[in-house]
This record gives sequence, C-alpha cells and structure tokens, in this order.
Amino acid sequence: MEYTVIAESSGDSLHPITAQLVGAASALGSSPTVVVPGGVGADEAASIAGVSKVVSVVGDCFATFDGGAWATAIASQCSGVVLAGATPIGREVASRVAAKRGVPIVQDATGLAAGITITRPIYSGKAVETSTVTGECVITLRANAFEAAGAGGSAAVNVIDQSADVGIAVKEAIAKASERLDVSEADIIISGGRGIGQKENFAHLEEVADMIGAAVGASRAVVDEWGMPHSMQVGQTGKTVTPSLYIAVGISGAIQHLAGMRSSKYIVAINKDPDAPIFGVADYGIVATWEEAVPALKAALAAL
Ligand SMILES: Cc1cc2nc3c(=O)[nH]c(=O)nc-3n(C[C@H](O)[C@H](O)[C@H](O)COP(=O)(O)OP(=O)(O)OC[C@H]3O[C@@H](n4cnc5c(N)ncnc54)[C@H](O)[C@@H]3O)c2cc1C
Repeated sequence: MEYTVIAESSGDSLHPITAQLVGAASALGSSPTVVVPGGVGADEAASIAGVSKVVSVVGDCFATFDGGAWATAIASQCSGVVLAGATPIGREVASRVAAKRGVPIVQDATGLAAGITITRPIYSGKAVETSTVTGECVITLRANAFEAAGAGGSAAVNVIDQSADVGIAVKEAIAKASERLDVSEADIIISGGRGIGQKENFAHLEEVADMIGAAVGASRAVVDEWGMPHSMQVGQTGKTVTPSLYIAVGISGAIQHLAGMRSSKYIVAINKDPDAPIFGVADYGIVATWEEAVPALKAALAAL
C-alpha cells in the first residue's frame, strides 16, 4: 500500500514529527511521499532517509492556518494510507482530508503494525484500543511514539501551486474571520449554550454583541451538536478567556465550561433553572428564559 505523509512545520523548518511519520511508514516497508503544506521545510523533507518524493504545495491559503483551505489544497496529493501528526494542526487537517477523500480516520495512534493494525490509548490512557483498517485511510500519530527516520535522503521536490483553486476559500475564510471579534481578544463576551434552543437563535446574541462591541462565544454542546465554529468554544477544550464581562446565556455551567471563563472579571448568567451551576460563579444572575431576558437586555442597552 502506498503511504503519504503530511509534513508539519515549526517556524521556518520542519517539525520533528515529520521524520517520525516517515519512520513509521518506513518501518512498514513503505517509501512514503511527503506532502508539505505551504512548502516550509520541503528541502529538509527531501533529505529524510526513505522518502521517495516530496510534493511542496504552495498557495495563498498557507499564509495563515485554515484547516479547510489547507485540506482543500493538499487533498488531491494524498493517497493510500495518509499519516499526519496528532498535533492540533495535524489532527484538523487530517480529519478534513479524510472527509474530502471519503476514507476512515484513526486519531492519536501510538503503534502501527502491518495490516494495518493500529493501537491507541483511550479513556485518558487507562485502556488501549486496537483496530484494524483495510484499504485507504488517514491516521494521526502521537509525537515521540515512533522512531524518527534519519537523514541521508535525496528525494525530488515537486512544487504545486494551488493559489487559483483555493483563492475563493481563503477570501471566504478571511471575510468570516473579520466578521466578528475573536473571543480570546474581546473585553466583553456573550456566550450561548444549548438552552438557546437552536443555532439560528444565536442571531439574538449577535444583536446584543453588536450593541456593546462584544464577541460571541459558545459552549461545547452547541459547537458539537449544531456545528458552530470551534473558534467560538469557551472551556477546557476550547478557549480560556478573561474578559471584563462574560454573559452566559442558556449555559448550565459544567466544570469544563467554567474552566475557560471563571476568571472573567464580572460574570452575568441568564438561565431558567435557579439551580444551574453557572449561578455558583456568577456575579449577577437572572433566573429567566433567554426569550424573556435577552429582549429586555436589548431594550435596556438601547436606552443607554
Ligand atoms: C473532556 C471534556 C471536555 C469538555 N470541554 C468543554 C469545553 O471546553 N467547553 C464547554 O462548554 N463544555 C465542555 N465540555 C462539555 C460540558 O461537560 C457540558 O456538556 C457542556 O458545557 C454543556 O453545554 P451547555 O451548558 O450549553 O448545555 P446544557 O448542559 O444542556 O445546559 C443548557 C442550560 O440551558 C438552560 N436553559 C434551557 N432552556 C433555556 C431557556 N429557554 N432560557 C435560558 N436557559 C435555558 C438549562 O437550564 C441548562 O442549564 C467538555 C466535556 C468533557 C467530557
């Protein structure tokens, strides 16, 4: 089976995970193709022992990280078994490449054997899962779990310019990014949770945000279930924020959410359940439905 490694860079050179991905493919008898997003470290990749070919994919989209645009740019160069690092960038690009190619993905492998048999820790490392994949797939490998391939290669480097194909995607991404303040930069955040009822109701929070120059955040429940952007997620597995004012609407206040916002200077909670844990950290609590409280808040702000 053919192997493709998605390289990762760190600053101006390759991230050490790249040689480890090549080492893992080589241990299974493959001479992988290395695809280098943005071309950073392409020559370095060519000098890794065992690499058969380097495809340096360049284009405007690589100026900043956008998982969707990067995956669009490199997916056609990825075939067979695709290996990427189980890093934040590697995981995101790998999952999008898998989706674009319609193949399965296994994240965070710590062992690979011919077949392909994959082992990976689950339940915070309390158990090890073994799975077998046949055919094309994408696998992310945990850093330092595989022996790195050494130097001494001299693979050819092919450069592919994807600017034209992904230009529109990049423009859309930039437009989307500039639409709203990022939660990690904002001094005021209004966040919504499952209690908001549905994704479309975030429009009410956006109206409040526009009135007070706030960013709009979200709980993980709505990010996972309604497909809100992960960049909005506040909490343990999202962003940690410390604004002057954090307004939580329809958010229960699970410990993982509190982990990301409890250091806010003032916390205002709107929740219909008086026993919701969010009230335990709130400076001001409004026990009401958001349907009652948010219009009242808008009216009060408009009157200021
Ligand atoms: C490993 C791990 C990591 C996690 N990381 C995060 C993270 O980073 N961020 C995060 O947020 N979560 C995280 N979670 C999930 C977390 O445990 C909760 O499941 C999640 O925060 C719940 O989101 P929620 O408050 O929106 O939904 P729910 O818990 O369902 O709460 C909805 C709330 O809305 C209220 N409500 C219902 N209707 C209305 C209405 N009409 N008006 C007003 N209030 C209403 C309800 O009373 C309820 O309190 C993580 C979980 C795990 C296991």
